[in-house]
Amino acid sequence: MSIINEMKNKVTHTAKSAIQKSNEIVEVTKLNIAMGDAQSRIDGKLKDIGKVIYDIYKSGEILSEEITAKCLEIDEIVQEIDKMKEKLALLRKIKICPNCGKENETDAFFCSKCGSRMDEE
Ligand SMILES: [Zn+2]
Repeated sequence: MSIINEMKNKVTHTAKSAIQKSNEIVEVTKLNIAMGDAQSRIDGKLKDIGKVIYDIYKSGEILSEEITAKCLEIDEIVQEIDKMKEKLALLRKIKICPNCGKENETDAFFCSKCGSRMDEE
């Protein structure tokens, strides 16, 4: 084989394996994205299951100790969020209706949405 032909073959081989390499990289990337997407879908379903179970807990049904403990932890976080909402409301000079959650002026006696009495704290 002539040197020129040998070089041509080498270049062709290198180009072919470079294409193959980049095809592999594309395939690996596609698979990683697809797996990540599938995992996200599983996480979403698990979250849905969690919400269903938390609703069951909230309806007063007795659940296993482990699940009840987790639900109690969620209750605590919900209370934390409520406290933060109250602080935010104070900072924004608004009052949250205890009945419907509508934001009202701090000096409102009744809710502008549902008409409930705005309790003084
Ligand atoms: Zn209201």
